[in-house]
Amino acid sequence: MNDLVIIAGGGVGGLATALTLCQIGVPCIVYEAVRDMRPLGVGINLQPNAVRELYDLGFTQGDLDRVGLPAKEWALVGLNGNDIYSEARGLLAGYNWPQYAVHRGLFHMLLYEKLRERMGPEVVRFGSRVTGYQKNSDGGVTALIEHVDGSTSETTGTLLIGADGIHSAVRAQMHPAQPPIHWGGAVMWRGTTWAKPIRTGSSFVGLGTHRHRMVFYPISHPDPQTGLSMINWIAEVTMDNTDGWKQSGWFRQVGVDDFVHHFEEWIWDWLNVPALITQAASAFENPMIDRDPVPAWRDGPVVLLGDAAHAMYPTGSNGGSQAIVDGRILGAAMVEHGVTQDAFAAYDAKLCGPISQLILRNRGAGPFGLLNLVDERCGGTFDNIDDVIPVKERTEFMAGYKAAAGFAVENLNKASPTISNGSRARTARAN
Ligand SMILES: Cc1cc2nc3c(=O)[nH]c(=O)nc-3n(C[C@H](O)[C@H](O)[C@H](O)COP(=O)(O)OP(=O)(O)OC[C@H]3O[C@@H](n4cnc5c(N)ncnc54)[C@H](O)[C@@H]3O)c2cc1C
Repeated sequence: MNDLVIIAGGGVGGLATALTLCQIGVPCIVYEAVRDMRPLGVGINLQPNAVRELYDLGFTQGDLDRVGLPAKEWALVGLNGNDIYSEARGLLAGYNWPQYAVHRGLFHMLLYEKLRERMGPEVVRFGSRVTGYQKNSDGGVTALIEHVDGSTSETTGTLLIGADGIHSAVRAQMHPAQPPIHWGGAVMWRGTTWAKPIRTGSSFVGLGTHRHRMVFYPISHPDPQTGLSMINWIAEVTMDNTDGWKQSGWFRQVGVDDFVHHFEEWIWDWLNVPALITQAASAFENPMIDRDPVPAWRDGPVVLLGDAAHAMYPTGSNGGSQAIVDGRILGAAMVEHGVTQDAFAAYDAKLCGPISQLILRNRGAGPFGLLNLVDERCGGTFDNIDDVIPVKERTEFMAGYKAAAGFAVENLNKASPTISNGSRARTARAN
């Protein structure tokens, strides 16, 4: 058996994992379905637990400032503009690491640049879709690959990591009886608009009710000339889902006229939602989808990672962060157990149970659950939030979420590094 680790999927999770394997001295190859690397997507959040791992991978604050900016505040606001809840984020909240709001496409390109610098251009094979795998009698694994020109090939390695996203082919083979994608009825329209950032200048704002809301936050430092930042926004409406999702795909570009009418009344002196939406260069529609948890992410020499393992609603802003952390925990398991199936077993035992719980927690609205409470108790309109949800209840609610998602401040600050500097994994030959 060779020492190669095969990674299916070169998204955020696949590339962060490849960087981790490079750091600990494990050879790997990434098969990515798309033909080339382009900066796709809009905003995502990198929570302090993920930024810590990126720093340990050698990324600097300067790197992250090129693709986003440190988040200062997370706030929920009622439809009358009154605060429901707000809290500091990142360094201002006492974390040893910042939280970053980044452009997903630019961040993805940054991961790719670093990987190319460290491992050379051959490490990611584009236009190569992993269609399945075979477990071999010597304990290794063969990945079956289909290329854009229609040809097929096979690559044999010691281990295979399925980081191939929510529509994962690796997961489909591992769990052939898994239910179809789950859609709870919420539809999201996403876009970016250059506008003046409000509140702290780097605030994540969730506005409205749990069935009808707007989320927005800046994902760039302000332009020094204009003072405008790129504002990422997600307009969201929950509708009847009894007939299932009717569009043919899960993701499509749409005109703003398709949905801006849901928000036409949302105009205040501090925010004009219809203007924010209509000034966007383009908008994308996608239903809020996830997958039911599976009992294991592992099948001998094969594991799932990132969305392939735990596609979840974006309500906790932690899908991208968790994909990065997955790769680090997998790397730490290889440092401890070598490039072996035991490493995969340790990774699975540590993450599959708790993160599956998080999927279900995000389905129940995640930290936006406070909006549900406001809606239930006063229909969404109030003068003083303390009369609706006492401060203790608000604080406890948020603390519970952060502990479950792995970014409770005290726990994270005192945790030793996931992978200590200079650690190397024993490769299969040395085992
Ligand atoms: C194009 C794109 C845009 C996105 N935009 C946003 C956004 O704006 N906001 C947000 O919150 N999240 C977005 N996401 C999702 C977000 O990136 C993930 O939820 C999160 O980062 C976890 O990353 P992941 O690597 O597990 O999955 P992904 O980032 O989805 O990456 C999976 C990768 O695997 C590739 N792939 C799929 N199937 C195969 C296969 N069989 N063989 C080989 N390769 C395969 C895909 O092309 C993709 O590059 C986007 C994902 C993609 C792919």
